Amino acid sequence: MTMATNLLDLDSEGMEKLFASLGEKPFRARQVLKWVHRRGAADVNAMTDIAKDLREKLKGAAAIEPPVVVGDGTAPDGTRKWLLKVDGANAVEAVFIPEDGRGTLCVSSQAGCTLDCEFCATGKQGFNRNLSAAEIIGQLWLANKALGFHSGGPRAVSNVVFMGMGEPMLNLEAVIPAARLMIDDNGYGLSRRRVTVSTSGVVPGMDRLAAECPVALAVSLHAPDDALRDRLVPINRKYPIRELINACNRYLERAPRDFITFEYVMLDGVNDSDAQAKALVGIAAQVRCKFNLIPFNPFRDSGFQRSGAERIRRFAQVLQRAGLTVTTRKTRGDGIDAACGQLAGEVADRTRRTKTVPITELRA
Ligand code: SAH
Ligand code: SF4
Repeated sequence: MTMATNLLDLDSEGMEKLFASLGEKPFRARQVLKWVHRRGAADVNAMTDIAKDLREKLKGAAAIEPPVVVGDGTAPDGTRKWLLKVDGANAVEAVFIPEDGRGTLCVSSQAGCTLDCEFCATGKQGFNRNLSAAEIIGQLWLANKALGFHSGGPRAVSNVVFMGMGEPMLNLEAVIPAARLMIDDNGYGLSRRRVTVSTSGVVPGMDRLAAECPVALAVSLHAPDDALRDRLVPINRKYPIRELINACNRYLERAPRDFITFEYVMLDGVNDSDAQAKALVGIAAQVRCKFNLIPFNPFRDSGFQRSGAERIRRFAQVLQRAGLTVTTRKTRGDGIDAACGQLAGEVADRTRRTKTVPITELRA
């Protein structure tokens, strides 16, 4: 690691500040942003239309340092997962999901997660630290490089979802600049609605994101009542459903014409009855929303089972008959543990939640 500024850490405002400190004009900052994010420059020397003396100045002050790829696997359905080393003890995962007409990159925002949801492998492995903006945007930068976009190929990543490891609302200091780069014309130029932040319901974070960078919002609901949600998603004890719904409505004030996507993991015999679907209809009446049902993805010792396909279909039907829009997520990335909730990376747990501290030797 150098002490130089990592250019991947800077959104356009940060880049302009750096250039001002070097006595340079703001348009130079925009030029460099384009080099780094649109053309994937890995080195200041590659920026050929920047005057040599400025390049020298920049080299003295800054570097481009993405996470290091230590694992790269592709499932038979084309889903690709990278294991990215972010320091000596931690690695996080990013997943690319190709679909007809679009490609979605699922990025991580923390090494582990503090929130400990019952059914989530990331939660179960404990927490080490927040990722930096460079480590978050670096996942998109690396994916674009691996998928050939930087070498002139078509744009493979059309959508980004913050649904990998971690709770983005507990790391907005880094998530906001990273999300801004995703929607910046000099960055990745994605539309605001193609960048989705998913939260388990950290209400103050939702308000901050609404004010500073109102991209699309997904909320992990998973239960229709506080008693069950308190158990499945422990942050509910702090921000119960009523407060969560109010926060969703405040969010939508900042993002008119949008809707909230409620994610709902289908756990056999736990949250998947017709009565629970009907109770959800009552919640949905209070906020503009759609539902995304996620068949539970098992991991070792989780203690839960996935609801059967027929049960999921019936559950969806109850919601649809009440006029709601419902999609059921296809399970992707089988065989490489790349599905929702299976991402575990390698995290040196500081919470002592895991029985054995998994500071394994990182590959490479
Ligand atoms: N921390 C954020 C974002 C990461 S998790 C959040 O909780 O929203 C992304 C989605 O995967 C969430 O809806 C989460 O509840 C869901 N998920 C977690 N574990 C899962 C599992 N084992 N199977 C299916 N979905 C899971
Ligand atoms: Fe953290 Fe989200 Fe997993 Fe809950 S579901 S433990 S908030 S990553």
